Amino acid sequence: MKEKLMRFMYGRYGSDELNIVLLIVSVILNLLSPAGSIFRGLGMVCICYAIYRMFSKNIYKRRQENAKILPYVSFIKAKLKNKGQAKLFMCPKCKRTLRVPKGRGKISINCPCGEVLKRKS
Ligand SMILES: [Zn+2]
Repeated sequence: MKEKLMRFMYGRYGSDELNIVLLIVSVILNLLSPAGSIFRGLGMVCICYAIYRMFSKNIYKRRQENAKILPYVSFIKAKLKNKGQAKLFMCPKCKRTLRVPKGRGKISINCPCGEVLKRKS
């Protein structure tokens, strides 16, 4: 049985961060919206898209889709990991997560890509 499943999944994409985000969004939409509403339908579309991505054989295209959402996922992960000691910003140019100490007033943050952000920490 396990070997059959392995053979079926061979050459297919599998799961990634975008699939997890799609499943979380669909669960939230299904829990918060009443039955028969458009949001519940949208949740089902998210689930169907996640399943389609999982069994897709076009791995290159699925990786490109995942790469678009990866900076946002890592930013959210860093926000959840951060326990209030630092303030996190996302560079609008390169989407890198920038970490600065909290409570320093208005500061300018230099991103390694050359972008300068003026934000309140
Ligand atoms: Zn940058």
